[in-house]
Amino acid sequence: MCGIIGYVGEKKNALKVLITGLKALEYRGYDSSGIAYFKNQKIEVAKEKGKIEKLEKILNLSTSSNIGIAHTRWATCGIPDKINAHPHSSGKITIVHNGIIENYEQLKKELEKEGYHFISQTDSETIAVLLDKYYKESQDILKSIIKTKKRLTGSYALAILCEDIPSKIFAIRKDNPLIIAKSNDASFIASDIPAILNYTNQYYILDENEIAILSKDKIDFKNDTLETINKKVLTFNGDKNSSTKGDFSHYMLKEIFEEKDVIKRIVKDYNDIDQLIQNLSFLKKYKKFDIVACGSAYHIGVIAKYLIEEHISIPVNVEVASEYRYKNNFLDNESLAIFISQSGETADTLACVRKVKEKNIDTLGIINVEESSIAREVDYAIYTKAGPEIAVATTKAFLAQLIIIVLITLYLGYEKKYFTKEFLNERLNELSNMDSDIDTILNSSYEKMAKIIAKHQNVFFLGRNIDYGIALEASLKLKEISYIHSEAYPAGELKHGTISLIEKNTPVISILTKNSTFDKTINNIKEVKTRGAYSIIISTKKIADTEEIILIPEKNELLLPILAIIPLQLLAYHVASIRGCDIDKPRNLAKSVTVE
Ligand code: GLU
Repeated sequence: MCGIIGYVGEKKNALKVLITGLKALEYRGYDSSGIAYFKNQKIEVAKEKGKIEKLEKILNLSTSSNIGIAHTRWATCGIPDKINAHPHSSGKITIVHNGIIENYEQLKKELEKEGYHFISQTDSETIAVLLDKYYKESQDILKSIIKTKKRLTGSYALAILCEDIPSKIFAIRKDNPLIIAKSNDASFIASDIPAILNYTNQYYILDENEIAILSKDKIDFKNDTLETINKKVLTFNGDKNSSTKGDFSHYMLKEIFEEKDVIKRIVKDYNDIDQLIQNLSFLKKYKKFDIVACGSAYHIGVIAKYLIEEHISIPVNVEVASEYRYKNNFLDNESLAIFISQSGETADTLACVRKVKEKNIDTLGIINVEESSIAREVDYAIYTKAGPEIAVATTKAFLAQLIIIVLITLYLGYEKKYFTKEFLNERLNELSNMDSDIDTILNSSYEKMAKIIAKHQNVFFLGRNIDYGIALEASLKLKEISYIHSEAYPAGELKHGTISLIEKNTPVISILTKNSTFDKTINNIKEVKTRGAYSIIISTKKIADTEEIILIPEKNELLLPILAIIPLQLLAYHVASIRGCDIDKPRNLAKSVTVE
């Protein structure tokens, strides 16, 4: 979480570049923000609580400065307020930090004993003070950085300014992302690519145990023993405009409307049996899968478990990454560990990749951001090609992961002779021709249902089998952006306790795409309706005696989760809009969860 941007250039408009960069990174954190820049050889710092516009208002953007660093925070240690906002300074050092320093309390005590004084509650200030201490001792910034690194436990991406060196920015990282970029007349540091795309599409990925030294005309990379490293420059080929909102009122809505294109982009690479074999044949040797992920990506794991176990008869264990990293797993050399992450930087998921790799287990990442840490560390990577996703609540990246799971199921089903060639071709054909079905869903009205749901404080989602996986995601979508408490239940499970919460008019949204459990779920819906629930059903068939039904087009069952989730994303969007919520930046959340 948190966005870091740094700029050193020819032109004297650092503040404008930094504020624009922060805005492009605001999806990563928005508790508070701050900036540090050189003016007349001195470091000036400005910070504000809240959104970046508030910081922008207190700055004079025409200030002459050609170097600075900035930060948008997602607080981990210390409440989100102005004092705790970054940058943090000590003596001649000023830093911005993304991550968590786990041993900061111990370091702080030690430094306080030596007479250092702290003004914030953050872990990050400890880094500034440590750097200052070592710099005072050595007057050598690089040696001070190396010494400081050795004292830090935890994760960090750091941009550093030293008042004695007004022409350079220094950067290091561990377990948190940082890219370094070069345009014709400037160098940049950023947490993510959208922040630099206005200036360049050429970038480097800073590796752990490397130091970047940025000047306006060059970037040097050094290792821990200060030897120069030559790094490969990468080119971002994506669409720069994909990170703008266009005519849409919110990124989330824009990204839901982009889902058709996402499907097309993926299907282009998996167009026929030969392409499926070429891209996925590495999967056929495995007899067991563990799927590890967080949040929405975990829900993909739940859907994958139902699909793969039912159609391919391979056991699939799905776990939340923050749990998996601290427990036993039972993988062997016939197992594949699958990690799903939009950003490829999800801290818990990345830690699980490393844990599994220590046991020499094969790993696959299903990742949206190419060149991300998980993508680089796994044995196999499948890219979901959703393009940059800016809204904090995922929609198109979730859908892209879902399609990859459907394709994996189709490939393995064919490979293991559960599906015929004809069946496979028919499904691929259906997948390539979903445009008009999706248009129908996108153009339907959800306002009436949304108005009713928006008035409630509790909503329940029900489903069995894959429909339960969809229910989990639909429920998360609603709660994260509308702040309505919502829970997803396997439809048969509600009566084992939670049904006590159903009151007159409590909205219960049921997903019914699975034929084999259709009648059973209908019975469960009757149970809640009898207790007064307001029932909304998502199904391909008309169903009598329900208040509302969202009809989705008839397709083979394997593909229905794709069509079922889109109206539920739209419904959540409309509910949040009616409630006046900050849809793209829901409170307390941030995209790309790079802290544990
Ligand atoms: N741990 C630091 C803080 O709480 C950095 C958090 C972040 O990554 O935004 O200030």
